[in-house]
Amino acid sequence: MYVLPDKYRKGFIKMDNNRYSSNRPRRKVSRRTYRNRRLAALAIIAFLVLILIVLIANACADDNEKKPSDSKSGTTITTTTTVTDEAIPTTVTTTVASTVPKNDSDFKLDRQTISIMVGESDMPRVLEYPDGTVEDDERWTSSDKEIATVDDYGHITGVAPGVCYVILKSAADLSQEVWIKVTVRSELSDDETTTTNMPQSNRTEAPAPPVHDTEGLTYINGVLLVNKQYGVPATFEPKLEQICYDKFNELSTAAAKEGLSIYISSGYRSYSDQDRIYNNYIEDEKKKGNSESRAKEIVDSYSARPGYSEHQSGLCIDVNTIDDAFGYTPEAAWLAEHAHEYGFIIRYPLGKEDITGYQYEPWHIRYVGSKIADKIYKSGQCLEEYLNVG
Ligand SMILES: [Zn+2]
Repeated sequence: MYVLPDKYRKGFIKMDNNRYSSNRPRRKVSRRTYRNRRLAALAIIAFLVLILIVLIANACADDNEKKPSDSKSGTTITTTTTVTDEAIPTTVTTTVASTVPKNDSDFKLDRQTISIMVGESDMPRVLEYPDGTVEDDERWTSSDKEIATVDDYGHITGVAPGVCYVILKSAADLSQEVWIKVTVRSELSDDETTTTNMPQSNRTEAPAPPVHDTEGLTYINGVLLVNKQYGVPATFEPKLEQICYDKFNELSTAAAKEGLSIYISSGYRSYSDQDRIYNNYIEDEKKKGNSESRAKEIVDSYSARPGYSEHQSGLCIDVNTIDDAFGYTPEAAWLAEHAHEYGFIIRYPLGKEDITGYQYEPWHIRYVGSKIADKIYKSGQCLEEYLNVG
């Protein structure tokens, strides 16, 4: 048998390979490939151009969508402003500016204070949106959902008595936000609406707006204010504050040294205590033949509605007999002259009934600290005057 030596075999194979490759009509195949490649390239370019066209078309469509809605809201603004401008007195605007803690946005609302009853709803209207934002960008939140809630459209609903803020922001521009002060009341009569509106308009001169903490309390210059306008939540139960009790004991001891007896008749009262007291008074007045509304009117002049009694603050005390006759006792005279030395004020003085909303109560003293008590004593003002809220 003849076996081809390896080197020849290799050569043969090599030669064969060479022949195969060299003899193959390479150009012919290449041309076809080129054509195919060219077609593929054209297809890709066409595809890219198509995508570009789609993108541009989309962008234009977005613009088209935005523009009409922009101009639509623009039209709304003009119409609304023209209509409401006449209806809004300028005083409202000033009130708003002084009572709302934060409003440096371009939102324009028809009002920035809302007063509602528990369970009642109200909605401030947005008259103008900041540039580049629309209605869909509105984001509403409540500073205290236990006092008032707000939905996505700005409907504010009262939950419990107190004061909180509803904040309107723009999702399109987060620097744009406006605060709406919300006062939630447990009950509201026609009479009270008038009295609550009065201090609000007077508050245009107030140097500092009230600051509320998380519990929905109103502090002005560090003084907790509880009156017919500013309530405290039903859940606020501080009991009689230690400082108030201690200072009262000092006062009582000093009076005793002069042979006078000053004692606590009523100190801290909870929301439910006040609820019972107020309603008992109403029943009493009705028994005297007064109608429901007349009974309320009478009782409101000497008793607080639940949630609006200063006794729920834990900072006041009714001394001795809760009776006009107390005013003629030497104890009352001593109290009027010396209470401020212990940090107390006669909370409802004679002649200030229209401001405090209460009859003269020589027995009701409120702890405010000696510095403020001294100032109030010397000025002859009542607390609302001192705090510039009434
Ligand atoms: Zn009292």
